[in-house]
Amino acid sequence: MSAIEELYQDLIIDHSKDPRNFKKLINNTHKAFGNNPLCGDKLHLELRILHDVIEDAAFTGDGCAISKATASLMTEILKGKTTFEALKLFNDFHSMLVGNAMYDGNVLGKLIVFQGIKQFPMRVKCATLAFHTLQAAINKKEGASTE
Ligand code: ZN
Repeated sequence: MSAIEELYQDLIIDHSKDPRNFKKLINNTHKAFGNNPLCGDKLHLELRILHDVIEDAAFTGDGCAISKATASLMTEILKGKTTFEALKLFNDFHSMLVGNAMYDGNVLGKLIVFQGIKQFPMRVKCATLAFHTLQAAINKKEGASTE
């Protein structure tokens, strides 16, 4: 493993063991439940959106290391973004995971650590669960499933 891959691995392990924003969000304005039955990942995402800006984001639930680490990093990165920017982030993240070269690495920030997932197609659904749930929450749908 290269040094950069080890660094990425460490960041994913850190966020899965000690997820950030792992809590209920009081005064949430948007929420959704995400389910990835293939792996057993379940995620409740709660957002506080004011004037189209995501002021706060938090999640609860249970799942594998990849699903938890993405939810943790995603909720960190979302704060201060508009809903349009958040949905663009999902687009760029998804493009990276499916090996499409057309994504903006600057937009992705720390989420770039998941780029190795494209070698494991089964885990792509774990990595995108938080974002599918985000999309459902922004669009005021109750839930999202990776299937
Ligand atoms: Zn999973």
